[in-house]
Amino acid sequence: MRRKFNMLYQLATRIIDGVKEATIANVARKQRTITSLFPAHPGRVQKVGHMGGVRLDKLGTESWHFKIHSGTKKSVWYDAVIKFLNITPILEKLVKDRRLWTRDKSKVDLRLLASEFRNRAEVKITCNCPCQQYWGFNYILSKDKYNAKYGDKETRSPKVRNPHQYGAVCKHLDALFKALPFYNSTIARWLDDFYGKDIEEFEVEAKKEFEKFKKAGEELGKKVEPKEKPEVEKTQVPEENSEEATEETKESKIDESVGYSGAKALYKVYHDIERNIDPSPEDIFEALNMMEEYYRDYLEWYHKCAEYKTKDKEIYKAYEKRLQEIRATKIGKDPGKALVALDTAINQWHRDYPAIVHLIMDVEELEPSAREKQMIGWFEKVSQILTKLGRLPEESPYADYSMSSTGK
Ligand SMILES: [Zn+2]
Repeated sequence: MRRKFNMLYQLATRIIDGVKEATIANVARKQRTITSLFPAHPGRVQKVGHMGGVRLDKLGTESWHFKIHSGTKKSVWYDAVIKFLNITPILEKLVKDRRLWTRDKSKVDLRLLASEFRNRAEVKITCNCPCQQYWGFNYILSKDKYNAKYGDKETRSPKVRNPHQYGAVCKHLDALFKALPFYNSTIARWLDDFYGKDIEEFEVEAKKEFEKFKKAGEELGKKVEPKEKPEVEKTQVPEENSEEATEETKESKIDESVGYSGAKALYKVYHDIERNIDPSPEDIFEALNMMEEYYRDYLEWYHKCAEYKTKDKEIYKAYEKRLQEIRATKIGKDPGKALVALDTAINQWHRDYPAIVHLIMDVEELEPSAREKQMIGWFEKVSQILTKLGRLPEESPYADYSMSSTGK
């Protein structure tokens, strides 16, 4: 968990510094703020599904065209496009990852490949409904840090309709994102039809590389087959067996860390509160341990990042205070006070995201494993409960970081 928080900050820094790439996962993450603009948004997305949903219209070499039904008007369909960028380089990276191969390691598993591709390919998107334009989503997608608008860039900011620039896409594209996992076998077929030759070529190269590696390994008397694991960060066949082993150990350490049990405890606490039950002190303190680590990580990162020392000054002060509160209640061992500290901590804002969203983003950042997906699920439920309880403020208190920073 620890290492991950740090990685998140590094990543945030990278994005702020202007790395221009957007994956569907990035856009979906930005979309999370949409309920601040439209509290009823999830219901509206559902309605799109009920009215007629999403239909695949046409598959091009690089883009997919969908028809998506209006959530309000009968027989009205909008056109949505997902264009994939730099397809061959990402395929090369993925195909050469042996963990995406079939069990017998004879070839790449197209379904695994498709699902990784869907999450990791860079995209440009659009929907031709009025909402996508009117509420500023085209403008948001056009911004340099996303550069994800399909077609011409929109330069007019939604000053009146969406001044804080919440969300990233209309309900149709949101419905499409939710439907995409169900298109996995279609994506697999599409990859085979349009990029089958490239894939084969990369497979041959990967086999050669692997054979070379295997030979070297045999000479050293080592077992070389990498452990099967679909969630991958590394994309090359590992060059040294020992390196792979270290990576594995690190990963499992994270799984066993305070993050997982803390997330579960946090969910239990809020689940109890929601049902008017007193949460158990064990859960409260367990969740506090996780929050303590989160705050400590931020403060450590802050000291390392000179360029944020002025920018994040206010946030730093708040984070320092939260950490002190947490530590004080851990010493005092009073569950009531600990619960207050926990609740304040989870509702603290970091720039333009509350801590709870920050935690979700952090776990999502690194191709989450099954256990980590479970953690995300718990965090999401907590976030829903906080919203329901009216605990989660709708706007960042930090003027410098609010989404309305354009021009102001
Ligand atoms: Zn739309």
